[in-house]
Amino acid sequence: MKYVGAHVSAAGGLANAVVRAAEIEATAFALFTKNQRQWRAAPLNDANIADFKAACEKYHYSPAQILPHDSYLINLGHPVAEALEKSREAFLNEMTRCQQLGLTLLNFHPGSHLQQIPEEECLARIAESINIVLEKTQGVTAVIENTAGQGSNLGFRFEHLAAIIDGVEDKSRVGVCIDTCHAFAAGYDLRSAEATAKTFAEFERIVGFTYLRGMHLNDAKSQFASRVDRHHSLGEGNIGHDAFRWIMQDERFDGIPLILETVNPDIWAQEIAWLKAQQKVG
Ligand SMILES: [Zn+2]
Ligand SMILES: [Zn+2]
Repeated sequence: MKYVGAHVSAAGGLANAVVRAAEIEATAFALFTKNQRQWRAAPLNDANIADFKAACEKYHYSPAQILPHDSYLINLGHPVAEALEKSREAFLNEMTRCQQLGLTLLNFHPGSHLQQIPEEECLARIAESINIVLEKTQGVTAVIENTAGQGSNLGFRFEHLAAIIDGVEDKSRVGVCIDTCHAFAAGYDLRSAEATAKTFAEFERIVGFTYLRGMHLNDAKSQFASRVDRHHSLGEGNIGHDAFRWIMQDERFDGIPLILETVNPDIWAQEIAWLKAQQKVG
């Protein structure tokens, strides 16, 4: 069973995100549980939590279909101690919010070395950040997203994801989310079914599908191996349709949220319908 959806707005309350997902006939969705451009947010209260859970029940979304995303400000590999501490606290807060909402996944960008520490040191800090936060929470898996490798962002090589996982003590609560636009921009070819199969064979070898907890299905406005992160609507960018059809027909992507972060929300319903239809194309 494939779960397909989009990163919907939670404006006006978290329960609204659920309604927006249902409106576009999504069988999965992503959301921010707080403003993604701010450090602080009012804590969730019982009413927020009850409304969100009731909406999920009404529209038939289980935690396996929901992939929350953390704030863009957080850098779990920050080279400066004070800033690292601030990010770890904010990440703990995000994980706690997910736990309160009964959610089981939290998707985040691994971190950036800011040209101040070596890659390996940054990856080790990220793993340690995850260890600290997993220790203080229950039931939520930390889902590391691959990046395009813009600036000093790590996570653009499958080896980076594997190195972080290697440093995490509780392997049952760490996973990865592969963003197709980011992978393509980082130099993993997805321009044909053959290229996509080869890229995911490499993923299987370096990281392993056992750690795959979600996907971001985005075409790329950016060029292959450009290390630039610019999403596009499916089939309109430099990846094209084939990779997305291939993913929809491969059972290793069953049972995890497959999330659009494509640039035109007006056509999300069409993109979701198209993705669902690919499962049956011969
Ligand atoms: Zn993404
Ligand atoms: Zn992106």
